[in-house]
Amino acid sequence: MLVLDIGGTKVAAARWVGGRLQDRRQWPMPPTPEAWRQTLALMAGAYPGMSRLAAAVTGLTDGRVWTAVNPQLVSFWDGYALADALTQAWQCPAVLLNDAQAAAWGEFVSCDRQPGNLLFMTLSTGVGGGLVLGGQLRSGLRGLAGHIGHVGSGLAPLDGNTRCGCGRLNCLETIASGTALARQASHLLGKPLDAASVFAGWHAGDPVCGRLLERATQALSQALADAHALLDLDEVRLGGSVGLAPGMVEAIRQAQQALPARFRVAVAPARLGADAGLIGIGHWASDRLNAP
Ligand SMILES: [Zn+2]
Repeated sequence: MLVLDIGGTKVAAARWVGGRLQDRRQWPMPPTPEAWRQTLALMAGAYPGMSRLAAAVTGLTDGRVWTAVNPQLVSFWDGYALADALTQAWQCPAVLLNDAQAAAWGEFVSCDRQPGNLLFMTLSTGVGGGLVLGGQLRSGLRGLAGHIGHVGSGLAPLDGNTRCGCGRLNCLETIASGTALARQASHLLGKPLDAASVFAGWHAGDPVCGRLLERATQALSQALADAHALLDLDEVRLGGSVGLAPGMVEAIRQAQQALPARFRVAVAPARLGADAGLIGIGHWASDRLNAP
């Protein structure tokens, strides 16, 4: 089986053999439909002769079609028949699952002692999430379950950009995603900056970067407390390039200290690291394939 992880900025692929990734490769996420078709052809050439394909993808999916929650992330896809496009490229069956939901399943099955209720949260180009409740992956009929990036943060972004790409106001994604950190810092400091620069500035003691990270971690700790109050979580696993950036987990734990103790849920870095989505979709699709 071939597994894919299609995100806002990159496409990762690997063979899934005996419960492990093999021959992992990565491409930048193309910015146009034409470039996407070329990348698809390149990938199909790099992995010939596959008999089955499973893709973890950012956004909403019913297993066949991809729909945007935040259309600004992958602007040329909305209601896109992604599974059919993959089937056509490889001439084999293809299934889709949201990337954070896939990662949640990957984190769950790789736990030594599997928690009943686990939330995986990815902080990356956007903010995503996936829920395993009572030992079952919950994606919901519409695929929306776990989309914690689009809950209200209670804070307005400091660049005045309060309207999230999803249409709601002051979503967690507008405060705590890599895109949000970069956007606010660029506005406040008057020069183009990326999320990595915001982290570098924070670690170097820059007060603006420090304030942005403080607000982001405050919003994250509140969103996790809300999720914990609703679902009684046993554990949160944090992934994505921003979630796994040095100091991020510790900063969220620090922000949680302002909460009453019963609303502080345990937060840990994703055990599967940056490949949680690929490994998760591999396990999920294999489990479905082998199910009676
Ligand atoms: Zn939103």
